[in-house]
Amino acid sequence: MLRGGMQAWPLRVTSILDHAARFHAGQEVVTRTVEGPIHRCTYGQLAARARQCAAALERAGIATGDRVGTLAWNTYRHMELWYGAAGIGAIYHTINPRLFDDQIAHIIGDADDKIIFADLTFVPLLERVRDRCLAGRRLVVLTDRSHMPNSLLELDCYEDLIAHESSDYPWRDGPEDAPVGLCYTSGTTGAPKGVVYTHRSNVLQALIANNADGLGFRSTSSVLPVVPMYHANAWSIAFSAPMTGAKLVLPGPKLDGASLCDLIEAEDVTFTGAVPTVWIDMIAEMRKRGTRFKRLERIVTGGSACPRWIIEAFEQEFGVTVLHAWGMTEMSPLGTFAAPRPGMEALDSETRMRLKLKQGAPFYGVEMRILDDAGQEVPWDGVTPGRLQVKGPCVVAEYLHGAGGAILDADGFFDTGDRATLDPFGYMQITDRTKDVIKSGGEWISSIELENHAVCHPDLIEVAAIGIAHDKWGERPMLLAVRVPGSTLTEEALVDFLRPKVARWWLPDAVLFIDTMPHTATGKINKVALRERYRNSA
Ligand code: AMP
Repeated sequence: MLRGGMQAWPLRVTSILDHAARFHAGQEVVTRTVEGPIHRCTYGQLAARARQCAAALERAGIATGDRVGTLAWNTYRHMELWYGAAGIGAIYHTINPRLFDDQIAHIIGDADDKIIFADLTFVPLLERVRDRCLAGRRLVVLTDRSHMPNSLLELDCYEDLIAHESSDYPWRDGPEDAPVGLCYTSGTTGAPKGVVYTHRSNVLQALIANNADGLGFRSTSSVLPVVPMYHANAWSIAFSAPMTGAKLVLPGPKLDGASLCDLIEAEDVTFTGAVPTVWIDMIAEMRKRGTRFKRLERIVTGGSACPRWIIEAFEQEFGVTVLHAWGMTEMSPLGTFAAPRPGMEALDSETRMRLKLKQGAPFYGVEMRILDDAGQEVPWDGVTPGRLQVKGPCVVAEYLHGAGGAILDADGFFDTGDRATLDPFGYMQITDRTKDVIKSGGEWISSIELENHAVCHPDLIEVAAIGIAHDKWGERPMLLAVRVPGSTLTEEALVDFLRPKVARWWLPDAVLFIDTMPHTATGKINKVALRERYRNSA
């Protein structure tokens, strides 16, 4: 039997930072710190401190496979921790601070974090959940001695912890399929469940999602991940940026439009990625300033469907290309990008815009199919929705502790819980979360499609469509909408606006204008909360 003649080089995430430190040593990592000032370092310095962090973790008794909790913004210290934990074979566990205290307590217990590193911002949170989940866990604040807070908790100081450790600490070896990261799902459809990434799945995700039609980073890029490291593995940016030597610009706790615009301008940012709610604020700020950015070329939007007006504002007013992406925590997390495909340039602008609103095509390494309720594949006609299923080297095989039981079907596919269409371009479009679809008289109404049409009204900023209980039809659609300040748009006028765009039976039975839209811990419209509040309001 002939043997392969190539080297067995384990795909470990630490090799990414090693590469950055060796071949992009002088490239900058810029952070707006939690303490306030802008901090600058290089990949070379970050790698040295990550090794100090690894040595400190080892000295603290953290062993291979132990969980290292983080309650932290996107900062250089958080990056050091991810790589430092990985370097001793431990597992970084990002805790989403926007979850409810009860969920956070549950997650910390479920993950059994041995040690938790928290930004100053989150010390009060730790104090709140102390009695529920912190017994026996060591707590470290990601700051220096002069900023250490007064607290009833026993807290260590990160800078003190790593100060005297060696920056030559040798990474511990291990197999590429060893666990390295833990991220819980958002908990919008049940209790949050843990997804355990491996070194291999993270390296592969960084490689394959960083293709030219995807993230597309290169060493001349300046990349600002607004998407937090505690949400869905930060869309792999903490790996794909150093892998290519791109400059990293980390926004810390300040995610408002003005602070982001300042950073984009000052740091010559070429690329940024966030959920749509962030863009709403940023566009308002950009309009106020009335200038275009010097170098911003592309933004990636994902996490929930992108309203058309956001794409139009970026592309037509500010000359920035918008790339719509879809993914989920369970996919490491990216799955599709709506990059242009051959044949699209010949289409009229309205058709091209409708394609941009789709979530796009899977890249190599993501198998995808849509099935009807009988388990048969539905046609790729761009019209017929089905259950969206995926498979690949960066897709979850099981949740932590086997939560939820077996989650792959007989063909090895994972059911995303999304409903979607596929079109002849291979473009996927999410029509709904399975749990959000509105079932009226036995027929399905796509809440996302209804929202997409409604939010095209120039007086609306955000819209949610939910099903409300109805004696005869089971459910009927209701729209909750946030108007631009000063608008006097009425329910009748909005329904008239929708009338030519959707089937008559899709028109909402009720429209309610609300002041603010509730969002989940990961920035999605909180439909569970809206349904609880309005479901029986007819
Ligand atoms: P999370 O794991 O928090 O990223 O949530 C994943 C879910 O967010 C997916 O299963 C989708 O329901 C939704 N989602 C992510 N990206 C998009 C998008 N571009 N358009 C519509 N829904 C999206």
